[in-house]
Amino acid sequence: MDSYKYMAEPYKIKMVEPIAMTTREQRETALKEAGYNTFLLNSEDVYIDLLTDSGTNAMSDNQWAGLMLGDEAYAGSKNFKHLQKAVQELYGFKHVVPTHQGRGAENILSQIMIKPGDFVPGNMYFTTTRAHQELNGATFRDIIIDEAHDSQNEHPFKGNIDLNKLQALIDEVGAERIPYICLAVTVNLAGGQPVAMSNIKAVWELAQKYKIKVMMDATRCVENACFIKHREPGYGDKTIKEIVHELFSYADGCTMSGKKDGIVNIGGFLALNDDDLYQKATSLVVVYEGMPSYGGMTGRDMEALARGLYESIDYHFIAHRLAQVQYLGDRLMAAGIPIVRPVGGHAIFLDAKAFYSHIPQDEFPAQMLAAQLYLQSGVRSMERGIISAGRDKNGNHHYPKLELVRLTIPRRVYTYAHFDVVANSVIDLYKTRDSVKGLRFVYEPPVLRFFTARFEPLA
Ligand SMILES: *Cc1c(COP(=O)(O)O)cnc(C)c1O
Repeated sequence: MDSYKYMAEPYKIKMVEPIAMTTREQRETALKEAGYNTFLLNSEDVYIDLLTDSGTNAMSDNQWAGLMLGDEAYAGSKNFKHLQKAVQELYGFKHVVPTHQGRGAENILSQIMIKPGDFVPGNMYFTTTRAHQELNGATFRDIIIDEAHDSQNEHPFKGNIDLNKLQALIDEVGAERIPYICLAVTVNLAGGQPVAMSNIKAVWELAQKYKIKVMMDATRCVENACFIKHREPGYGDKTIKEIVHELFSYADGCTMSGKKDGIVNIGGFLALNDDDLYQKATSLVVVYEGMPSYGGMTGRDMEALARGLYESIDYHFIAHRLAQVQYLGDRLMAAGIPIVRPVGGHAIFLDAKAFYSHIPQDEFPAQMLAAQLYLQSGVRSMERGIISAGRDKNGNHHYPKLELVRLTIPRRVYTYAHFDVVANSVIDLYKTRDSVKGLRFVYEPPVLRFFTARFEPLA
């Protein structure tokens, strides 16, 4: 592995946070106490935490300095003006409604746009996004390209929308029953896979023809822009700022979780061009979040997010982020570890079905792999397989095609040396994989079981 080929950190360290250095005995105890569920581990017992990239980012000195400039006025905070300016300048939308995080924006957007009986097409679903659409009476339709459902397909833009699927839905239900197309950049559940600019533009043109709005899930838009720069002909010489701006020129608005590409720990917003929709959004934000000039955020948090948005479009920041994720993926692929390909923007997904091919899916190979990884090296990951998929209404397990363990990379938090620890640990586990058995439930909660279920190893 030629590690010198990887882009070095475009920042230096000013403050450090010590992390737990545990022994195997301590981890054994912690894992048993957590019922073999990494969601139930205490953060204090975790060495490298790859549970999520949401809200786990390291803010810069500039962002921390911004926190001290919080204007906590109930109305008309100057930090709101800064956030508004950042969104208008970088994303190009006219109106900004701050919310406590991404799902706060999804709630408002879904309420102002969806009528019962509507259909909302999207490039694969995201949990909270779909939940809000359905709560407002819409049916979600997946219109992502088929390649996205194949974990080994190397398509460079696996997040693309299949225009034929979109056209078929319009023909089937009529444009008037489609309030908007939900276009996510990148697609989280497909593995952080990007959407090509040519595809975004084609979706926009088709939508214009039928007067259907396009609302983007902007959560990882900067990662998507960097993939476009690296992979799409004609974009190599453009700046991330230019690409982000063009990308949003093909949308009527967006929901944003600042906890991802905004490089903050909490916050989000809804952005819109339409004046009437903005009016409707402000009348709801006062009910669910707060005054339109702070929504769900403090003044200081809006300042940190405004500054984070500017930092996020720096090429060195985002290229390094993608390089870190790629580095971990490359080390694992070089050792023959089965992972989802190509490597996406925010995470590596281990294919637990191939990894523990001797463990049947209903003995939870991904759950066990996440547990073994913690035991081996104190690395926390999460199951995305049969446990996450839950049961159907007859009480039988859903058996998802993909049985994965997600290693999610927080922004600016870990170094390549940490990723070597992760890679070495996964490689060691792969060598001894045959001796590992599955798990069984000790406690299974009725809903969203992955959060709180408890297990024990099969004898
Ligand atoms: C995290 C996320 C959301 C929801 O945002 P929160 O800030 O967690 O409420 C929406 N869409 C995608 C793609 C996400 O990853």
